[in-house]
Amino acid sequence: MTIVKQTGFILIFFILIGCQVQQAGNLSLLNESNAKRPVPSFLVENGKEQLIAKYENKTPSEFGENVAGVYTHFSSSKKEIALTFDACGGSHGNGVDEALIAFLKENKLPSTLFINSRWIDQNTALFQELARDPLFQIENHGTHHKPLSVNGESAWGITGTTSVKEVIEEMKENQKKIEGLTGETPTLSRSGTAYYDDVAVQIAKDLGIQVVNYTILGDAGATYTAQQVNKALLQAQPGDIALLHMNQPTSGTAEGVKKAIPSLQIKGYTFVQLHFQNLQ
Ligand SMILES: [Zn+2]
Repeated sequence: MTIVKQTGFILIFFILIGCQVQQAGNLSLLNESNAKRPVPSFLVENGKEQLIAKYENKTPSEFGENVAGVYTHFSSSKKEIALTFDACGGSHGNGVDEALIAFLKENKLPSTLFINSRWIDQNTALFQELARDPLFQIENHGTHHKPLSVNGESAWGITGTTSVKEVIEEMKENQKKIEGLTGETPTLSRSGTAYYDDVAVQIAKDLGIQVVNYTILGDAGATYTAQQVNKALLQAQPGDIALLHMNQPTSGTAEGVKKAIPSLQIKGYTFVQLHFQNLQ
């Protein structure tokens, strides 16, 4: 082999290595930007005092599950459904539906988990394991699991927050807890009971938080039988958001989900996580 040929090979070798290093560099940048949820331009963190001053004299005109500004479904041209599971926490709500979680994993069903602070405190290791699994999108289900109200309205016997300050803290404290444990900031939130007043929904928006409810009442607070859960899920239309629970292992939820999913798949449905851009 001549020196010229050798030099040529060496040059090509270095060019190839250089390309790979360049590619690896681009890839790591890509992965880094993909790993973090894009932060929309409207996500400007307002100071608490500023928000209190803005809203403290506002009187709500609505209180319920479908007040203005609450997202209930998403736009999709395909047969897609979002499965969402709440983990409510509290003395009757700190359980883990292991059969349900195992089924979601075995069948690789992407899901969105709305998780409350109290549940995280009782199940921290499991929470971190779920958060590491890309199958599961972790979002905010409040700090004390209260309906979001600026004047203490109640839902399902649970007294709501009583002021603008409490509305902010109910969302932000759990958001910070999740951020501290996962390094990601949840920007979707569903209150305990899924009830809000319209002022609270506006406060959430100012905090850069989108309030997400549902179109399919999947298990009615984990009170449905498996048959009722199955029937509810089979009503699904493209873009529906199903509300179910992952914290009541003795409920009919897991069995109902196991019945419904194969039927929906036969009908051509797939399951997707929530994307803030598509919410409606
Ligand atoms: Zn709940």
